[in-house]
Amino acid sequence: MQAMVLEAPHRPLRLTAMAVPTPGPGQVLLRIAACGVCRTDLHVIDGELTQPKLPLVPGHEIVGRIAALGQGVTRFRLGDRIGVPWLGWSCGACRFCQSGRENLCDQARFTGYQIDGGYGDYTVADQRFCFTLPDAYSDLEAAPLLCAGLIGYRALRMAGEGERLGLYGFGAAAHIIAQVARWQGRRIFAFTSPGDAEAQDFARSLGAVWAGGSDQPPPEPLDAAIIFAPVGPLVPAALRAVERGGTVVCAGIHMSPIPSFPYDILWGERVVRSVANLTRRDGEEFLALAPKVPVRIAAVPYRLDQANAALDDLRAGRLQGAAVLVADDGKPA
Ligand SMILES: [Zn+2]
Ligand SMILES: [Zn+2]
Repeated sequence: MQAMVLEAPHRPLRLTAMAVPTPGPGQVLLRIAACGVCRTDLHVIDGELTQPKLPLVPGHEIVGRIAALGQGVTRFRLGDRIGVPWLGWSCGACRFCQSGRENLCDQARFTGYQIDGGYGDYTVADQRFCFTLPDAYSDLEAAPLLCAGLIGYRALRMAGEGERLGLYGFGAAAHIIAQVARWQGRRIFAFTSPGDAEAQDFARSLGAVWAGGSDQPPPEPLDAAIIFAPVGPLVPAALRAVERGGTVVCAGIHMSPIPSFPYDILWGERVVRSVANLTRRDGEEFLALAPKVPVRIAAVPYRLDQANAALDDLRAGRLQGAAVLVADDGKPA
């Protein structure tokens, strides 16, 4: 098989020939059809997340079909199409796992970080952490649901019930979550890089009632804001944009330092919180909800050997929607 491999941080991925992995007990072997490209992959490759296995096959929005079953696999059958998300394994025994918070597990292992991921032809995954995917989505469209969608959905839930929702950074996650939030009856205020008229048009096309630069105040106070961009100064900006009692959710895994800010922008029971990873419950809820909205996916396909170009386009903000690596033939082997 071929895979795009990270040998060390700060280096481009290299197309490498590897042995097809063998599924262990409880694991499935997947022939990969599509794998989303996520900002977290950039944080791994750029050395901002410091604990990757090396060499590493990145990628944690994997859509594939089961090509072999390990011992004891009963949830799925050969040929089933399934999805593999960021949370690849949790211990099931720690105080977090035992209280519905496996996303915070002491020993959690993550796909495309501590476990080889989906930038390749095949991968293995623990059957317990895989999802059945809604039939309404093609392989290309289903991939972004698996992180942009379901971690975005967790962030939306943490933002509370408020009607006026700000989204900072209008990329893969925001384009999905804007559609869900609108379906829930909320109004969306989209903040992009200052002057990014294309991203602002994209946000309005998905139903945002207002779109502007992150250096602009919204036209009215917000009830909540979700920050998808990895930019610390957006935290005080979002606090200034939300009304008393409002919540600011930081949805990314990494962010540049947050500048100090006066207490009065936090005062009034405003809340700042992060969202970390996902639980299997988030995934099941979101994957059931997406086809009901229905969430439409804007996906930009790349071949596996174009992964570095996809990552560069993501880093440079040149994408509308989500980058997805697709298998050459687009079909199961
Ligand atoms: Zn645990
Ligand atoms: Zn991700």
